[in-house]
Amino acid sequence: MSSKIKLAVSACLLGENVRYDGGHKLEPIIREKLGPFVDFIPICPEVECGLPIPREPMRLMGKPNNPRLMTITTRTDHTQKMNDWARKKLKVLAKQNVCAYIFKSKSPSCGLTRIKIYGDHSQPIGLGAGLWARMFMQRFPHVPVVDEASFYEPGFWEMFIGRMFSTK
Ligand code: SF4
Repeated sequence: MSSKIKLAVSACLLGENVRYDGGHKLEPIIREKLGPFVDFIPICPEVECGLPIPREPMRLMGKPNNPRLMTITTRTDHTQKMNDWARKKLKVLAKQNVCAYIFKSKSPSCGLTRIKIYGDHSQPIGLGAGLWARMFMQRFPHVPVVDEASFYEPGFWEMFIGRMFSTK
């Protein structure tokens, strides 16, 4: 078994075709910078909780402090489905001793910050984290989390690699 540390990554950032439109958001720099140090754990919460590819796009709706994950056009509520999967997945990740997580930004499931939350009349009423990202951060408050929007900040990779190994 590999002795490398375990890094969770939104699966679409590793090139997996799991997005709502059947595409990916590959960031080759993740493997270039971190491949030598880590075993990747690709995670797509929307697909792993049972939603198809392609699928109807979703957004967060309802109370800003406890939003629901809803499809935009048909208003199908996938919150329970996501929560049921997430509870089991968090237990698995605890056993895998994940040292950090790179999330996809701007996603109602994976986004870390500034994800729009909408009211009943489709008006934005707040900002928050994606449903899965929020659950992960609550369960693992000391595990470093970043999104791909940070990659091009000066000194990012040195800082992130240092933080990954400090939680080993
Ligand atoms: S952002 Fe998250 S939920 Fe959306 S496709 Fe990527 S891994 Fe899946």
